Amino acid sequence: MQSLGDPAKVSPREIRFYRPLAEKAAQCGVCFRRCVIKEGRLGFCNNVKNVGGRLYSLVYGHPCALNVDPIEKEPLFHMLPGSTIFCSATAGCNFRCQFCQNWEISQRTMWELINFDVSPGEVAQRAVEEGCRAVSFTYNDPIVFYDFMYDVAVQARQRGLRAIFHTNGTLNREPLLALLEVMDAAVIDLKGFTTKFYRRYCGGELIPVLDTLVRIRETGVHLEVVNLVIPTLNDDLDEIRQMCRWIRGNLGDDVPLHFIRFFPAYKLHRLPPTPVETLEAAVQIADEEGLKFVYIGNVPGHRRNSTFCPRCGKLLVERMHFFTLRVNLKEGKCPYCGEPIPGIWA
Ligand code: SF4
Repeated sequence: MQSLGDPAKVSPREIRFYRPLAEKAAQCGVCFRRCVIKEGRLGFCNNVKNVGGRLYSLVYGHPCALNVDPIEKEPLFHMLPGSTIFCSATAGCNFRCQFCQNWEISQRTMWELINFDVSPGEVAQRAVEEGCRAVSFTYNDPIVFYDFMYDVAVQARQRGLRAIFHTNGTLNREPLLALLEVMDAAVIDLKGFTTKFYRRYCGGELIPVLDTLVRIRETGVHLEVVNLVIPTLNDDLDEIRQMCRWIRGNLGDDVPLHFIRFFPAYKLHRLPPTPVETLEAAVQIADEEGLKFVYIGNVPGHRRNSTFCPRCGKLLVERMHFFTLRVNLKEGKCPYCGEPIPGIWA
């Protein structure tokens, strides 16, 4: 793989989901923004360009990050504990989260970063060589490199690997359903539970995320939900209760839910880290609302990093932050009482 750096070397790929409009304009169909892009212009994410009335992905084959992570870092707690994943990311995003923890790539254009020049097959092969069990699309939102993500996932599965993606969940229905055909697991950020929060602090929308969560749940793709708890912005306990009720009512009681500790970042560096007591209060609410697998993230060593049997209370998967210390499951079930634990364990 070689570094790129020179935008003239970019070889764009026509995207799958768009429709041509009059006067060589075109409308991208990948995410909720449905950008109408005039000839020669870019979409909101800066990664899709209209060339002669056709839309092309500029970042296809040009990730800015290729990295091996523990699967627990995703966070993905009910899938292949203790394994590693091969992560890809590009520049750009379709949100503008003021608290983005990866803003140095997500809020940059590809011309501001050093990018790789690599095919989907090469990424998948590299994942195999690194001993990873899955490929992952993460750090920035993979919606903005949809076509590359899709093709890497296909190549990975052909090599016996799993495929997972971590997104804000604003894919439109058709590209989402197509993607789920080649994915094993999805991690979805539910960043808050009000439209006001999404618009003011994320530059996004809540309703498409809720639609995506329901759609994923309707398929066999494994789902985990992440809520970054930000002091004073989305830590209202009544709102958290409403969110937990919605999850239970629409996704079921066994979807893993991660409450993640916020650390000051990007435009919200004036805020303090989330108090651990706030995360514990959120967990207590989720427990009260009947959710069975609720975790605290970014607090290494906390008891709620680990998985307990919802029936008999025994420790099943012991974790320390991003690392699994011990797995005590028998064919996906609690070895003490036989309770099935949802996930991909083998
Ligand atoms: S993927 Fe990019 S170009 Fe397409 S609709 Fe979303 S923001 Fe617009």
